Amino acid sequence: MNNQDLLNRSLKSVWHPCTQMKAHETLPLLPIASGEGVWLKDFEGKRYLDGVSSWWVNLFGHNEPRIKAAISEQLNTLEHVMLAGFTHAPVVQLSEKLGVLTGLGHCFYASDGASATEIALKMSFHYWRNIGQPEKNQFLSLQNSYHGETIGALSVTDVAIFKDTYAPLLRQSAQMPSPDARLAESGESAEAYANRCADFLEAYIKQHHADIAAFIIEPLIQCAAGMGMYSSVYLKRAGEICSQYQVHLIADEIAVGFGRTGTMFACEQANIKPDFICLSKGITAGYLPLSVTLTTDKIYEAFYDDSVARGFLHSHSYTGNALACSAALATLAIFEQDDVLSKNQTKTAYINNQISTWHDLPIAHVRNQGMIWAFDVQTNNQQFQRAFYQQGLEKGLLLRPIGHTVYWMPPYVISQDEIDFMVNTTKQLVTACA
Ligand SMILES: *Cc1c(COP(=O)(O)O)cnc(C)c1O
Repeated sequence: MNNQDLLNRSLKSVWHPCTQMKAHETLPLLPIASGEGVWLKDFEGKRYLDGVSSWWVNLFGHNEPRIKAAISEQLNTLEHVMLAGFTHAPVVQLSEKLGVLTGLGHCFYASDGASATEIALKMSFHYWRNIGQPEKNQFLSLQNSYHGETIGALSVTDVAIFKDTYAPLLRQSAQMPSPDARLAESGESAEAYANRCADFLEAYIKQHHADIAAFIIEPLIQCAAGMGMYSSVYLKRAGEICSQYQVHLIADEIAVGFGRTGTMFACEQANIKPDFICLSKGITAGYLPLSVTLTTDKIYEAFYDDSVARGFLHSHSYTGNALACSAALATLAIFEQDDVLSKNQTKTAYINNQISTWHDLPIAHVRNQGMIWAFDVQTNNQQFQRAFYQQGLEKGLLLRPIGHTVYWMPPYVISQDEIDFMVNTTKQLVTACA
């Protein structure tokens, strides 16, 4: 196997995601042979530092021995059994652990984030229907929100490039002003702006709550929108408003869960308890596809009945896959064994200290929350995104800017030397590409 051979065969047989395939006529695909820690390696031995954790999933680096061992141990006993009518130890243990961590008692599994969103939306509507309020069938989300790209999830997503083409297929939903601190008026604090957005939300919900099933939100950071960070004040008020007006709050922690924002879950920072939490991405540290939607006893009980149709008849073939659950259990164990959240604080401080020495770069809105950093590059270069990505790869650094936003979401195992490489190379790239 060599780079060129695999690349050619991939272009003939694989339809790659989130890509205009014709772009690969001039922007080569990257064949990856192996991974180790924060590094990905091609077939010729060239290394790339995975500064985006392979699309935000890889928490503890590639080739993590404890997760590998857990999966292979599970492989020796049970790889999979359907979860309708059957159960197994990894799914029970994982559900118990997630219940303790989130305070929500009932776990419904799928294999990707978009499905977790679909499940939360369907469950919310079905709850209201079961308690005799089927007119509550509308959903709210934020401007610039991202909740996945299947038809239902795309309906509550608000990113034009993903959504506009499919608009005729989608159900209408209402978008509330985004509290993204970059949108504040000049001189207005992030917190004051968050309060202003919450006032709008409150007025809207007060008027329309009889028709609204749920408000779905990405807690603290709108990642796909370009790491739009906002004050926890908004989250706190959204929690209060939703509970006051009987609208479910769905916390989409698919990107921010599992320590990304500094706490295990972002909602903890606003001290709120949503009605639903959606988790995926980091849940297996990037080893196997898994997602879960958690909800409250109250919602669960509204489905518990002699009538079959009042039950939640949703399913996916791989629901609660035993191998994926064992990878998730190993991931959670590492958080405890390695004291990950407090070690990350040291890394966060170190990186913030490095950035504080940056001067005279054409950047704005430098921001950080936990193990996510972002800044917006001020440039007229129409090709900035592509140039940055491509020149980064040449230097051995994998970063994928979103528009003019450059961000880091590295695996938590990144060392001080690797941080130095990431930070210094990024600085050079900004200067070269702006
Ligand atoms: C990635 C993401 C999703 C969708 O997850 P997939 O596994 O890609 O379907 C949903 N919500 C948020 C916040 C995400 O970041």
